[in-house]
Amino acid sequence: MASPARRLAHNAPGDLFVDASCIDCDTCRWMAPAVFDRAAEQSCVYHQPSTGAEVEAARLALLACPTGSIRTETKHDLAAARAAFPLLVAEDVFHCGFHSESSFGATSYLIRRPAERGGNVLVDSPRWNDALVRRLEELGGVRTLFLTHVDDVAEHARFAAHFGAERVMHAADAVAGIERVIDGLEPVALDPELRVIPTPGHTAGSACLVYRAKFLFSGDHLAWSESRGHLYAFRTATWFDWNAQIRSMERLARERFEWVLPGHGWRAHVPAEEMPGAMRRCLEWMRARA
Ligand code: SF4
Repeated sequence: MASPARRLAHNAPGDLFVDASCIDCDTCRWMAPAVFDRAAEQSCVYHQPSTGAEVEAARLALLACPTGSIRTETKHDLAAARAAFPLLVAEDVFHCGFHSESSFGATSYLIRRPAERGGNVLVDSPRWNDALVRRLEELGGVRTLFLTHVDDVAEHARFAAHFGAERVMHAADAVAGIERVIDGLEPVALDPELRVIPTPGHTAGSACLVYRAKFLFSGDHLAWSESRGHLYAFRTATWFDWNAQIRSMERLARERFEWVLPGHGWRAHVPAEEMPGAMRRCLEWMRARA
């Protein structure tokens, strides 16, 4: 847990701070960019939250932090923030919060759908948290657990067992116990709304999920770079093959979507008709680093 004695020097004076246990996963920075920034390869509070929106965003980030590295000098009531997860992204897509250290703080999402459309889908695994699990139960449970790649599986087995969910994963990354294994490079329709796009590169078995031709759950294949101002891929965190990832990105660019919801990094919302241009920009950037 965060400790006042380990308060990082880069924090702005005040109640909220990040301590030395921070693993630099970036979660707090994209969740509360007005409060958190990066310094010396860790996060810090560069601006003490002063508005209601900043306080709320900081509390949500505190709960999402995978290592408990964010804390306050004074006691805060976090019940409302805790109850806010899963947090609405758009329409029937939610951010689960409660990131897991075992996935280096990857983001997990919930797609909420009625049973007749195939039921709820969890994309990658949050850390186990009783309040979150109760909310997932209230929202209809989890029918399918889609795992984008081997790094972000976290507590998949516990979630799958608790909810009786079918786990879906690509063969090249599949861990023990996966109920439905996808193979090859061709897209696979799980049902009329869900399409798995194999995207080897970051890992051999990385795969993305497209929901209703609108939401792309991209794992660690694709994310928004706030500093560069365009979509990109993690060149320095390519565990399998950068050229394979470029080819995967070329295939992914043929899909229709407007939201990019990554495991790590920042999300993006680009009008569908502008996404081909955004993907071309990403591919130019990637090819320049081949
Ligand atoms: S969420 Fe926690 S571990 Fe991740 S960058 Fe912020 S303080 Fe560090």
